Amino acid sequence: MKDQFGTDSLFRSIDLIEPGDLVVYHGTLTDLHGLWLALPCECAVCFRLDALGIADIRFHLVDPWGELSGPMHARRESITRSIASN
Ligand SMILES: [Zn+2]
Repeated sequence: MKDQFGTDSLFRSIDLIEPGDLVVYHGTLTDLHGLWLALPCECAVCFRLDALGIADIRFHLVDPWGELSGPMHARRESITRSIASN
């Protein structure tokens, strides 16, 4: 299946971040740069943004070992899927 740019599903599967993927965070919170587990952010803030029609996918990043809660509401642009997840 091709998207609007004509790229195929192989490219899309690399770019796509799914819940539970390991990702590298490189956003504005430099102290929190590193490896995290990406989950959909389902907090009240993101719920409101959704309701306003701001359809930006946001992620809540958590420590893969379950000890820390990382950045919330991380934008897609702030994270890159980790090669280690494959
Ligand atoms: Zn949020």
